[in-house]
Amino acid sequence: MSSTIYFRDKRLTPIWEKIQNGTRLSLEDGVALFNSGDIISIGKMAHAVQQQKSGDAVYFVLNQKIEPTNVCVLSCKFCDFATKTGKPDAYEMTIEEILSKLTPEIHEVHITGGLHPDWEWKYYLDMVREIKKNFPNVDVKAFTAVEIDFFHKKFKLPIEEVLLQLKDAGLRTMPGGGAEVFSERVRKLLFNQKIGAKTWFEVHKTAHRLGIPTNSTLLYGHVETYEERVVHMMKLREAQDETGGFLTFIPLAFQPGDTGIKPKNDFTSAIEDLKTIAVSRLMLDNFPHIKAYWVMLTEEVASVALHFGADDMDGTVGGEKIAHDAGAVSPMKLAKDHIIKIINDAGKIPVDRDVFYNPLNLYTDNVIGKIPYLNSVPFYSHFEKHQFKIFPVVPRRMGELAKKEQIEAGPFSLMDFFSNTDTLELMNHCIATRDQVKSVMLFSKEGWTGLEGKTIGITDDTATSVRLLQVLLAKKYNVHATFKRLHAGVNNYDAYDAVLLIGDEALRRNKYGLPGFELVFDLAKEWYDWQKLPFVFAVWAQRKSLSAERKSELHHILARSLERAEAELDAVGKVHGDRIGLTAKETQEYLEGFNYHLGEREREAMAIFKELYTGVALDIKTNSELQREMD
Ligand code: SF4
Repeated sequence: MSSTIYFRDKRLTPIWEKIQNGTRLSLEDGVALFNSGDIISIGKMAHAVQQQKSGDAVYFVLNQKIEPTNVCVLSCKFCDFATKTGKPDAYEMTIEEILSKLTPEIHEVHITGGLHPDWEWKYYLDMVREIKKNFPNVDVKAFTAVEIDFFHKKFKLPIEEVLLQLKDAGLRTMPGGGAEVFSERVRKLLFNQKIGAKTWFEVHKTAHRLGIPTNSTLLYGHVETYEERVVHMMKLREAQDETGGFLTFIPLAFQPGDTGIKPKNDFTSAIEDLKTIAVSRLMLDNFPHIKAYWVMLTEEVASVALHFGADDMDGTVGGEKIAHDAGAVSPMKLAKDHIIKIINDAGKIPVDRDVFYNPLNLYTDNVIGKIPYLNSVPFYSHFEKHQFKIFPVVPRRMGELAKKEQIEAGPFSLMDFFSNTDTLELMNHCIATRDQVKSVMLFSKEGWTGLEGKTIGITDDTATSVRLLQVLLAKKYNVHATFKRLHAGVNNYDAYDAVLLIGDEALRRNKYGLPGFELVFDLAKEWYDWQKLPFVFAVWAQRKSLSAERKSELHHILARSLERAEAELDAVGKVHGDRIGLTAKETQEYLEGFNYHLGEREREAMAIFKELYTGVALDIKTNSELQREMD
C-alpha cells in the first residue's frame, strides 16, 4: 500500500505512515481523523486500505427483511418503530405471513423486530425452522443481541442455550443491531432500558464460540461525541482480535423522524456519513468488511462511500420498515440490476454473495482472481496499474467462479484447475513449494497413525490442501479419518482431533501455536520427504476463450509483476506480513520458500499427485450440503 496522498491537513501524515507500516491506530488518531476537514485525504486512505483487503469487490446480497412485530416491551427514545399491544398501528405476523414474503431467489432473510411480551419461545424456533424447511437455499440472519438477551431472560434459558437452539433450528448468522454506542453516558440518556456493552459483547462472543458469525453496528449522529464513536470501534476491534467472528461493521446514520432527539429533518450530512465510514475502515483493521447501508445513507451517498472504504452495499432489502418509519428516504426496494449498475458505475466488481460473504456471481468483465494470502502478493504489483479488476477470493470460491467463466485468469487451486480444463488453460506460473510451505498445516492432538477413525476439521477455503491431506493419510500412512468442514475463526477447534488450516491463518498459528494441539505437520514437507518433489498448490490459468491479444497482455503483466517482486522480495510482502504479525525477516524467508515458475519438476509433481488421488474417494460435503444435513 504505497499510494501517494497529498494531505491538506498535515496532522494526518503520521497517521498515514502508521497505516502504511501496519501500526494500529490509537484513540487519538481516530479522534484526529474525525476532527479533520481533509475529507478527501481521509477517503483516500480508507480506500487504499479497503483495496488491500477486498480489491475491487463490492458485495451485495439478495435479501428480504422481516420484522415479525412492532409490539415491544421497551420504549427506546430513539425508536419510531415500536408500539404497544392494542394500539391501532400494532401488528403481529404469523409464520405463514412470514413465509409468504419470501421467494426462492433470495439468499438471505434478515429478521429483527420488537420484544413481544406474549410470544412463546417455540414460535421463534418454529419461525426459523419453517423458513429453512420451505426455503433451503435461504440463509437466516436473525435476532439482535437485545432480542437474544430478551429470550434468555423471558424464557429462563442461558444465552448459550438460546443460541444453540436457534442454531439447531437453522440460524446461520446474527445482525449487529442493538450495539448503538458503547457509552454508558449515551445509554443512560437515550436507551437506559436496553442492554449495555457488557451484555452485547457476551451475546456476540458466545455466538462466535458456537460457530455463528455476526455483524456489528454503530448508531451515530445523535448525542454521541467523536471520542465515543472511536471508543466504540476500538472495543469491537478488541473483541475481533479475540474471536474473529465479526463479518462486517455497519455505521448506521441516525434517522431523527419523530423521535424528538433532534429536529425531524436534521439528518447527518453526507460528509459526516462518508467520514464515519472511512474512519471505521481505518480503525477496524481486523474487520473484513465495512457496509454502506444504503437504506439509511441514501443510494447516492452509499455509492460515493464505495470510494471511502466501504465494500458492501447490503442488499435488495425488501420489507425494511424500522428506518423508514423514522424517515429514511431511499426507495423501499433497490432492484438487483440497479445495485449492479451503481457498483459498476463506481468502477468496481458487483459480487452477489451469501450470508457468509461467499461470492456466488460476479457481474462484470476483466476480473483477475487473487488468493488473499501472503504467498500470492508477488503476482500483483503490475496488475494493479492496469485496467484489470482484482478480486481477492479464497481458492475454492475462485474455482466455483471459474466454472461459471466469471474470472479471466488467476492462481487457481490445483484441484480446481484439474476440474476446469475444458475452459481453463495453463499459464507459466504457479505457487509451488521447494520443501516446506509453513502455511498449509495440520494441527493435531495425535501423531499420523493415531488419527485412525478420528475427526479432522478441514478448512472451507481450498480443495487442494484437503486432497493432499487425504492422499498423505491414505497412501503414505494408511490411515482413514472423517473430514468435517469448518469456518476458520468462529469454530471451537476443541471439537476436532486435528485441524487443517491454510494461508495467513495457518502462518499465524504456526508462529503462535494453536492451544490444545501439540503436534504441527507441514503438509508440503510431508510430501517432499515422501516424493522428493515440490508440491504445486496453485497454477495460474486463463480462460481459453480469451483473445490472443488478451492472453499476451496477461502473460506480459504477470511476468513483469513477478520480475519486479523477485528483485525486491524483502519489501514486497512487508505490509501484508506486518498485518499478520510476521517480522520482515520471517516474511522474506516465507516468500523465498516458493517457486512461482511452472517448470519440469512442478509438472512432474502435478502428474504424480493426480495419479495418487485418483481412486481415493473424497467424501466431503459442500457447506450447503452440510447445512441441509444439519437442518
Ligand atoms: S429499538 Fe428495539 S428494543 Fe427499543 S423500542 Fe424499538 S424495537 Fe423495542
